[in-house]
Amino acid sequence: MTETHTCHHCSRNLHEKRGRIFTDYVGHKYCSSHCKRIGVFNWSLSIPGARPMVPGAWEYAVRIVRSRDNYTCQDCGAQQTVKPAYTLFPAHHIIPIKHGGNSLPANLILLCKDCHDRRHTKLSERGHYPDQAKLGNEEKP
Ligand SMILES: [Zn+2]
Ligand SMILES: [Zn+2]
Repeated sequence: MTETHTCHHCSRNLHEKRGRIFTDYVGHKYCSSHCKRIGVFNWSLSIPGARPMVPGAWEYAVRIVRSRDNYTCQDCGAQQTVKPAYTLFPAHHIIPIKHGGNSLPANLILLCKDCHDRRHTKLSERGHYPDQAKLGNEEKP
């Protein structure tokens, strides 16, 4: 049996469900339009080497990362303030998209804008990301 009988997102048994079953364009089945939406987001975020194309998927991943990382910069420990919106911290790809990284939360960390800029400056100076352990104690050339 290859057919799945549980919701691809929440694992709810679809046999016990009355009413409509939702199917996405890669054939996964869901118990609700909400689960389908999250399922399609995750699918879009999981594609290596590509930015998520499904509208809302990136914002969904960033929301998860902000809350998982406690609204705190993972390099310097700065706290994100709630307002104004332009101080919201960006999520950073640990393995860059162009090196085949995906946009699932496991490949993202929350950084403040300064630390994010710093990582990208190092990236462009060296053409690759420095390894994490060296990041804190290196001087700029
Ligand atoms: Zn579900
Ligand atoms: Zn920081």
